[in-house]
Amino acid sequence: MVLTPDVLIVGGGPAGLAAAEVASAAGASVLLAEQKPSVGRKFLMAGKSGLNLTKDESADQIVAACGAPWLAPILRDFDADAMREWAAGLGQEVFTGSSGRVFPVAMKASPLLRAWLARLAPVDITVRWRWLGQDDGTHRFDTPRGAVAVRPRASVLAMGGASWSRLGSDGLWVERMGDLAIAPFRPANMGFDVDWSPHMARFSGTPVKDVALIHGDTQRQGEFVISKTGVEGSLIYAMSALLRDAPDAALDLAPGRDLAALEQAIAKPRGKQSMSNHLRKVTGLPPVKLALLREAGPLGDASAIAARIKACPLRLIRPRPMDEAISVAGGIKAGELDDALMLTAYPSTFAAGEMLDWEAPTGGYLLTACIATGRHAGAAAARWARR
Ligand SMILES: Cc1cc2nc3c(=O)[nH]c(=O)nc-3n(C[C@H](O)[C@H](O)[C@H](O)COP(=O)(O)OP(=O)(O)OC[C@H]3O[C@@H](n4cnc5c(N)ncnc54)[C@H](O)[C@@H]3O)c2cc1C
Repeated sequence: MVLTPDVLIVGGGPAGLAAAEVASAAGASVLLAEQKPSVGRKFLMAGKSGLNLTKDESADQIVAACGAPWLAPILRDFDADAMREWAAGLGQEVFTGSSGRVFPVAMKASPLLRAWLARLAPVDITVRWRWLGQDDGTHRFDTPRGAVAVRPRASVLAMGGASWSRLGSDGLWVERMGDLAIAPFRPANMGFDVDWSPHMARFSGTPVKDVALIHGDTQRQGEFVISKTGVEGSLIYAMSALLRDAPDAALDLAPGRDLAALEQAIAKPRGKQSMSNHLRKVTGLPPVKLALLREAGPLGDASAIAARIKACPLRLIRPRPMDEAISVAGGIKAGELDDALMLTAYPSTFAAGEMLDWEAPTGGYLLTACIATGRHAGAAAARWARR
C-alpha cells in the first residue's frame, strides 16, 4: 500500500503539530505519523511544572538565546506576540511572570493540546507509526498493520531531539539520514552530578535561593535545587551550556553583600556558640548554604569564610545523562537547510523543531523556536506540494 497525501509530517510534538496546522490551513491534505500511542507526550510533560510558552522579548533576543542567527527571519515571522495570540486563539489566555516568562493561565499543556487537536481535525493523525527512512521521496513506516509506504508531494520531519526517549524523542532518526551533516547530540538544560558527602543527604530536594552562579567572567543570580546526585533547577540550566564544556563553577552565597562587612560580622566573638550557630546568626545564611560552605572543605578563619561565602567552589563532576535533559544541543546543521527549512540533499523534505542544530536555555525559547520552525516548514511544504 502506498499513501499519497500532499504533505506528510513525521513526529507529533509541537513542531510537527505546528507544521500540520499551517499546511492543512493552506489547503493541503496532511498525514501526520507519530511513533508513540499518542501525540504531544513531551509537550504534556513540559506542562507538568508550568508550561512556559515563550519569553516577553523581541524576536532578536529570542534568536540570540537560541544562538542561531539563521533562525532570525523565522522568529521575526512568529515571535513572542504571535505565540501569545496563537495560544489565545486556542482559548488559552496567558500571563507574563516577573521574569518575563509567559505561561497559559491554566499552567498545564493539556487544555491547549486538546484545543489544538480539535483544530487539527482535518489532519489525518496516525499513531504507532515508526518512520524508518526515505528512499527517493517514498517514506517507509513500521505500523501495527505492517510496513506502510507514503509518497507525499512534500514532507516535514519533526522527530525531536534525543532526551526523554520514553516520550518518543529517541534521536534514532539520526541513523536514517544518510550523509547529512548532523552535529552530535549533547544534553542541554540538564543537572550535574556532584560527589556530595553524606551530610548533604538531608538537603536533597532543598532549594538554594538568592544565590549567584559564577563561571569565569559570567555570573548569574537565581535559584537551584540540591538533588540526591548533585544540582539541578533553573539557575543550573541557564548556565548548563557553559558548564557542560568547562564545569569549573563557584557560588556567591550572599550576592549583594559586601566581603569586608561579612568578614567583620564573622570575626565577632562567638563565645560558647558552635561555629554553625554563630555563622547562621551573623550571616543570616540558611542551613543549606552553610552546608554548601562546609562541603568545600575546612572553614578557616573569618576572612577565609567570608571569601568562601562570596566564591564557594561547586565541584561539578559531569552532566546528568542526556535522556534526563530538558533539551539537547546538536542536530541537523544549518548548512543542510535552505531558507524554507528544506533539506537541500532531499528536495521536498523539510525539517523543524529540536531536530535542528540550535540550543536555548529554558524560559519558553524552546517551544517558541519549535513552533516557529514547525509553522515555517509546514507553510513551505504546502507551497511545495502545490507546485
Ligand atoms: C520536563 C520538561 C519540561 C519542559 N518544559 C518546557 C517549557 O516549559 N517551555 C519550553 O519552551 N520547553 C520546555 N521543554 C522542552 C520542549 O518540550 C521541547 O523543546 C519540545 O517538545 C520539542 O519539540 P519537537 O516537536 O521538536 O520534538 P518532540 O516534542 O520531542 O516531538 C518529537 C516527536 O517525534 C516522534 N518521533 C521520533 N522519532 C520518530 C519516528 N522514527 N517515527 C515517528 N515519530 C517519531 C516522537 O515520538 C515525538 O512525539 C521541556 C521539556 C521537558 C522534558
